[in-house]
Amino acid sequence: MTTPREHLIDWLRDAYAMEVQAEKMLKTTADRLEDYPALKARLQQHVAETRNQAAQVELCLHQLDADTSLLKTGIGAIAGIGQAISGIFASDEVVKDAVYGAAFEYFEIINYKALILAANAAGEPGIAATMEQILEEELAMAGWMEDNLPAIMRQYLATGEKH
Ligand code: MG
Ligand code: FE
Repeated sequence: MTTPREHLIDWLRDAYAMEVQAEKMLKTTADRLEDYPALKARLQQHVAETRNQAAQVELCLHQLDADTSLLKTGIGAIAGIGQAISGIFASDEVVKDAVYGAAFEYFEIINYKALILAANAAGEPGIAATMEQILEEELAMAGWMEDNLPAIMRQYLATGEKH
């Protein structure tokens, strides 16, 4: 039988893979955006937060005497979103970035909520507390994306190219 601690290690590895992918996606998107300075700045801020999140998750794994092996199935679940964000250069790319970007934050949010429960079940309140801190950053980023969607849509619809 798989113990709560083994599950926690597995899911922390998934979270590490998620953050490594998130950093790449956020950076690619931020580098590309020129006409949306507020979105670009918030993405750059979240790149830095995401890098720190990956380091925090790695530290949790070390605390459990585990490493950050990326050979996990969980990464496949978010590959589609990653491709959608980094691979498309459509004229409405900023709208797709805003939609997929927010979806990714909600994916992270629910993952950290699950990890908090898993950490507590494994008797690791310190790790649960770290997950709570990361969750706050993801909630803030998701909230920002939602709050700023109207401005992004307004600007895009007023100036965006159409095929
Ligand atoms: Mg994150
Ligand atoms: Fe995030």
